[in-house]
Amino acid sequence: MSDPATWRSLAAAVPASFGMWDGGDWAEAAGFETLALRDPWTGNDFTRVPSASAADVDRVVKKATDTFESGSWSRILPQERGRVLLAWADLIDTHADELAVLVSREMGKPVRDAREIEIATTARMLRWYGELADKLMDESPRGLTDSLALVTREPVGVVAAITPWNFPLSLAMLKIAPALMAGNSLVLKPALQTSASSLRLAELSSLAGLPDGVFHVVTGRGATVGTALTRHRAVACVTFTGSTEVGLRLLGDSAVSNGKTVWLELGGKSPNIVFADAPDLDAAIATAVWAFTFNTGQMCTAGSRLYVEESVYDQVLEGVCAGAERLAVGDPLDPGTDLGPLSSRGQCDTVLDYIASGLDSGATLRSGGAQPLDATRPLVAPAVFTGTDTSMQVAREEIFGPVVCVQPFRDESEALRLANDTDFGLAASVWTRDVSRIHRMARGLDVGNVWVNSYEEGVPATPFGGRKLSGNVSDKGSYAVDKYTHLKHTWISL
Ligand code: NAP
Repeated sequence: MSDPATWRSLAAAVPASFGMWDGGDWAEAAGFETLALRDPWTGNDFTRVPSASAADVDRVVKKATDTFESGSWSRILPQERGRVLLAWADLIDTHADELAVLVSREMGKPVRDAREIEIATTARMLRWYGELADKLMDESPRGLTDSLALVTREPVGVVAAITPWNFPLSLAMLKIAPALMAGNSLVLKPALQTSASSLRLAELSSLAGLPDGVFHVVTGRGATVGTALTRHRAVACVTFTGSTEVGLRLLGDSAVSNGKTVWLELGGKSPNIVFADAPDLDAAIATAVWAFTFNTGQMCTAGSRLYVEESVYDQVLEGVCAGAERLAVGDPLDPGTDLGPLSSRGQCDTVLDYIASGLDSGATLRSGGAQPLDATRPLVAPAVFTGTDTSMQVAREEIFGPVVCVQPFRDESEALRLANDTDFGLAASVWTRDVSRIHRMARGLDVGNVWVNSYEEGVPATPFGGRKLSGNVSDKGSYAVDKYTHLKHTWISL
């Protein structure tokens, strides 16, 4: 749909309130309190969701546990589980426009990106796990004569997923799909801001045939609902995507309850390294712009540190500034928009504070500005800094906005030293045509994902995860199944 009016009429049709999704039915919070969701573009509240308490969490976890123990999902044939997941993926495709509008209203994502990337990725990931369901094998080591050893996988029980607002459905699906495929029950705590799209996603799961009681969405404040889930003794594991600060706190919540595993996908400050022998410097420049502005820079893998070999530094800097200035900034419901608003006023203030701190510490703003583009909306022009070094806050901390620090380097060893001089270890990109250098850099970069002559690429089969303060595990692929299954060793003496 290329007509903004059609998207606006869909946006106007969003229900005025949602219930919580209690594994097949809608439910109110015990205290009947509700919370408003605010559209960052209009500044208006557009719907409400229940504000759950610890008592609500307890009730939902009990239902998820009972369902798990009943075997209605955990013990059916894997191909039956796969069939339901595939039917759910088809329904997501059918309802893609409606889901895209919800995401766009919740956090300001341009509706074109919401439809073509966020919702499409959500269905694609779910379909991949649906197809995987009956293709996993258990194992039996060879070489035993009078005995048989079996290594089998079993679902862990009730999984709690706590997820952020920046890619609300696709990131949640990276957890939901493998966990459900493996036979677990799952309780999702979405970011409050993007609860409505998660609730609609959950409703579609029932239409696809997911048995009652398997999948729940509990809405409310993170500190209340997230903490109650992570401290709950009947929850077998917590799988989290979000900030490093909250993720680390969850480890403590687990430690004071049942020591459940806490899988963490956290923040980043990713280096994008351009050598003079990049195979296509124009592509490197265009991708560098995309890497720090896509989703208005609200991306864990944002290429927020751009290191450029000295001999092409001026050319790349000029190209990045020009490319950033060409982006269409504005109404997320206009399919022509490249860059929507930041997700909230608070997020906008944070980004502007970082820009101010860069200026205070002596860096130079080569493009963008220190003020919002529109006094009434959280709109910021992409900011390009030079003159930064890795001691500055703007170059060290995750900003979660369209801000990049561009810095020259002399040679490969300096590029590697700068790239690794960070507390994070999520991703990095390298642009070069030298095959040996590709391998040296890929080995030397202390990150979970390296892209060469590309950025943010992958397929459902490839793992995605970080190290250091970026996390402790990977989502995606068959690797993710390890998180949601226990290994069991059975030794049979023959
Ligand atoms: P966040 O503030 O850490 O929130 C993430 C989730 O945790 C939300 O559901 C939030 O609920 C909940 N939460 C907040 N406080 C909590 C607490 N005390 N106990 C338990 N749960 C709590 O992160 P965000 O602002 O939504 O997302 C941005 C962050 O996510 C960035 O740091 C980004 O890098 C990271 N991220 C990482 C990846 C990755 O794959 N590595 C991908 C995307 C994003 P409420 O929203 O309701 O408070």
